[in-house]
Amino acid sequence: MRLIESNTFCTSLVKSNLLFVWDTIYYVYMATRTEIKLTVHSRDNRDLPPTHATITKVEWDKAERTKNALRTFGIMFAFTFASVFIPILHFILVPTLFIASFVVAMEKMGEKVRNDGGTGECPKCHQTFKVQASKWGTRITNSCDSCPEELEMNLPPA
Ligand SMILES: [Zn+2]
Repeated sequence: MRLIESNTFCTSLVKSNLLFVWDTIYYVYMATRTEIKLTVHSRDNRDLPPTHATITKVEWDKAERTKNALRTFGIMFAFTFASVFIPILHFILVPTLFIASFVVAMEKMGEKVRNDGGTGECPKCHQTFKVQASKWGTRITNSCDSCPEELEMNLPPA
């Protein structure tokens, strides 16, 4: 099972860039996903009637966070070890990946909830816009994809 996951991970790594790798590390593992409805306000035109957006809330409990952090550390440590065999580049790759293994694992351990993005309706042009994924805070700010409107959505407490 673990081997299959690692193989899938390797294939995605070859195909994609570092940002994709980061996303894979974040989302491939155990989590509870809930759809959440938010109210969309315009930051530029406060008097516009608000519309709605739906986002996915990703939550990890302590056991899931621990397992995910250990697995992430394992995978990144394997890459650290593999990079030992790449000539010249290993001077940079080995220390960078070694430190990154701890940093990413600690980050995964600490993050309990995250906004995985979604879609909403713009209060001004009424077109659908994409809500960017982000850390869970008090609000999300996002611009509309179809017009220059700056939008704001308040997040419920995590
Ligand atoms: Zn718009």
